[in-house]
Formats: sequence, structure tokens, C-alpha cells
Amino acid sequence: MPLKVLIIGAGVCGPAFATLLQRADPSHEITIIERAPRMRESGLQIDLRAQGIPIVRKMGLIDAIRQRAVPESGVALVDARGRPFASFGKNDSGHGAQAFTSEYEIMRPDLVDVFYRASLGLSAEKDNSNNGGKTPQTWGVVSSGNGNVRYEFGVTVTNISQHDADVVEVTFSDGRMAKYDVVVGADGQSSRTRRMILGGKEASDACFKPLDLFVAFYQIPRSPIDDSWMNWHLMTGRRAIVTRSADVEAPTQVYMTIRTSRKENAFGICTAGSTTEQKEAFAQAYMDEDAWRAKEFANALREKTPDEKFYATEIGQVHCQKLVVGRVVLVGDAGYCPSPITGMGTTLSLIGAYVLAGELAKHGKDGVPDALTAYAQTVRPFVNEAQTLIPGLPGMLYAKSKFGVWVLTTFFWLISKLRVVDLLMKFTPEPEKSGGLEIPEYPELGLTS
Ligand SMILES: Cc1cc2nc3c(=O)[nH]c(=O)nc-3n(C[C@H](O)[C@H](O)[C@H](O)COP(=O)(O)OP(=O)(O)OC[C@H]3O[C@@H](n4cnc5c(N)ncnc54)[C@H](O)[C@@H]3O)c2cc1C
Repeated sequence: MPLKVLIIGAGVCGPAFATLLQRADPSHEITIIERAPRMRESGLQIDLRAQGIPIVRKMGLIDAIRQRAVPESGVALVDARGRPFASFGKNDSGHGAQAFTSEYEIMRPDLVDVFYRASLGLSAEKDNSNNGGKTPQTWGVVSSGNGNVRYEFGVTVTNISQHDADVVEVTFSDGRMAKYDVVVGADGQSSRTRRMILGGKEASDACFKPLDLFVAFYQIPRSPIDDSWMNWHLMTGRRAIVTRSADVEAPTQVYMTIRTSRKENAFGICTAGSTTEQKEAFAQAYMDEDAWRAKEFANALREKTPDEKFYATEIGQVHCQKLVVGRVVLVGDAGYCPSPITGMGTTLSLIGAYVLAGELAKHGKDGVPDALTAYAQTVRPFVNEAQTLIPGLPGMLYAKSKFGVWVLTTFFWLISKLRVVDLLMKFTPEPEKSGGLEIPEYPELGLTS
């Protein structure tokens, strides 16, 4: 029996979940709403690791992802004059865990596009030759060929009520109302769905555990000196600057990171409001003359980065114990963001999408409550594993004084010379079973094994 499902959020896991569910049964009626007026183009490199790799392989999307992967060589720490003093290459040996740079690095808009196309039943290849040369529309209302997967951009939910145990009543921002069998909150770290089902802002905000780190992600025109390495420069004042430029046809990615608490609010970063104000706060914080290309990047942020190519966020983890309330369920960052510093955000959101689709397919329309309970139980060990941080991180990567930066620099130089990271990767579990956890099999999803 087909389900009527609403997915809130067309980020990474919303479209991935839609793809999985409609593959299990193309007669499910799936609506995905996205707050932004069109598919969001911001966001830089994200990576697939561990169990995320077999999931996209089962979905038949591994080649489309490889086709768009960014060929980054690894991570290099550079001094104030841009000279590398420590480097950690990627592990493309096919054995052991992925290193800092994964084999599956991909730009976020590219990964979202892969799942978006797949959910609409289109080929996920970038060149469009299998789609009759057509790029799918990414705004307004967009439907799959059979009309059963439908995206609506520029729409949010204003109310969710569950008076009747078998149905969720939803009110949309444009005043419409509709009833669904299941509502899936895939609306990211600051999820409004979480707020609605937990009974308010306070309960929802309490799930967010800040890591006292603020990051700006943006792109600037390439410079001839940009290379295939992720270049990372440690600065005083608990700041760092990172560039990634392995894709020679793409602009250079810049990441500005500042370690500060909301209370300390260094450089006024935490209270910067609009996108323009956020850009200005980051630019002002990086005007140092003697810190590699910091000033050049700050000026480029002011002068060459359009707002839609800029994304800034507070880094933290979402620890939400209640992933299911009635027939409303949280997936991905909305329920269990592990934070970008774990490198597991995208993978964990895919595990969530896969398990939720699998349990719904396994239990059928009459078993929705059991499916949601099974999802919450099955995904929890993966969440706990992904959210476990290396002790001392991220604080120990950010020094306040020149002496502190010197200590860090010496530490990285030493572990690079001793090849400690290479050895660690060799002895950590094989990449598809992080923490020894294997994804369950769901034959009901009709995927390749
Ligand atoms: C614009 C953007 C850029 C990002 N860039 C990076 C990056 O460079 N590096 C990195 O490591 N991680 C980045 N992330 C986070 C990363 O995508 C996620 O951590 C991870 O992939 C898990 O994905 P998700 O689908 O759970 O959440 P997300 O990818 O955050 O997707 C959530 C989606 O829900 C939409 N949404 C939010 N609220 C509502 C609402 N009320 N109604 C409808 N829709 C709503 C958002 O616009 C977004 O499209 C970015 C996220 C966003 C939204």
C-alpha cells in the first residue's frame, strides 16, 4: 500500500531518502518542501566515508559521485609564507580507513544534485546526455516523470498536529493544509521540525551542543599558485584559514574558522546577523598582514563573494534523544548532526535516510509506528559512534599566542615526519565499517547488493 510522505528539507538526506523510498515502491506519494526559493548552491567540499560508501553503491550512484569527486591530494599545513611544513596524503590504497582527505570528496551542491536527479528518476551524471540534454529545474514546483515525487521550493511548515494516531496534519507557509502518513524532518542542524515536535525553541535548542567554533565557507577566483592540496594555516587568536582548490576548473574554496564561545564572542562573530554582517565580521577578523594570504582572502570575501556563495555556521552537535514523535521523524543533522569536524555528517545523514526508508519498506503501511521505532533504535549506535570526538578536539587545534601556534606547528611537523597518521589509517577498521558497525540489509528496498 503506498504511503503519503512529506519530507521537510531538500539538503543532502531529504532527496536521498526520497530516492530510496520511491525505489522501494514508485507508487508512494512523496512531497519534498525546501525553505530556500531554489536548490541551495552554497556549501563547499563534503565527504563520504565508512558506511556512506556502500549505501551510495547500493543506490547505483557511486559512479555519478566518482565522476564529480574532487581530486584532492591530501592536507598540507603551510607557514606564514605559504611553505608546506607537514603533509598528510589521502589513502587511496583501497585498504584501511580514509585519511583526513577522503577518496570521495565532493562539492555539496554536486552531491545534492546527484540525489535530486536520482529522486526525480533522472540520470545523475553531470553531462545531461542521458536526460535528453536537459538540466532539471531547481525552483518552483518540480515533479518526477510519474508525478509521485514532487519538490516545492520556497515553502515551509507552520504547524504540525497529530490528533488522530494514523495521520499527521500539516499547515504550510502559504496557508494550505494537507494530511500525511509520515512527516520527515530533514531540515538540518537548526531544524524547525525538531522545535515543533519537542514543544518549543527551548527544548530544541537544548539539543544543540556547541563546540565553540564558528566557520565561514566561501569561494573566490582561482590564483595560479592554488594547488591540489588542502592548505591549512594556523593563526594566533584561535583562528585558522584553509583553502581547497583541487578542481582546476572551479573557484578556490576558503574556510575561515574561529574558536570562540557565544559568551566570549571574539571578533563579534557570534552576534553577526545578516549575511552581509556575517561576511564583514569574518573579513575584519582576518585582516592580518603577516598570516599567509589571510588579508587577501578577507578582501576577496568583501569584494568578490556574492551572498549566495557564502555560508557561515556555528559548529556543534545535535543530541536529540527523541527522534520520533507520533508519525513525525527526524533524520540527518536535524536529529543527530555530528558536526563537520567528525567528517561524518553526510555519511550519518545517509545512514539515517537508508535505515528509515528500509524500515518503512519492511513494515509497510500498517506498520508505520513499528517502522519508526525500529528506525530510531537501529540508527542510534551509528549516531553514538559518529558523534564520539577525539579527546581535546577541536580546542587543541586552536592556539591563542604565537608560542601556542609554534607548539602546534612543531607537533604537526613531527607527526608528519614520523608518518603517524599513515600508520593509524592502516590499523583502523576497514572503511565501510566505521566502529565495526555494518548497515543492515533491506531486500524490500530493491537495491543492488
Ligand atoms: C547551504 C548549506 C551549505 C553547507 N555547507 C557545508 C560545507 O561546506 N561543509 C560541511 O561539512 N557541511 C556543510 N553543510 C552541512 C551538510 O550539508 C550537512 O551536515 C550534512 O550533509 C547532512 O545533511 P542534512 O540533509 O541533514 O542537512 P542539510 O544539508 O543542512 O539540509 C537541510 C535542508 O533543509 C532546508 N531547510 C531548513 N529549514 C527548513 C524549513 N523550515 N523548511 C524547509 N526546508 C528547510 C535547508 O535549506 C537545507 O536545504 C551545509 C548545509 C547547508 C544547508
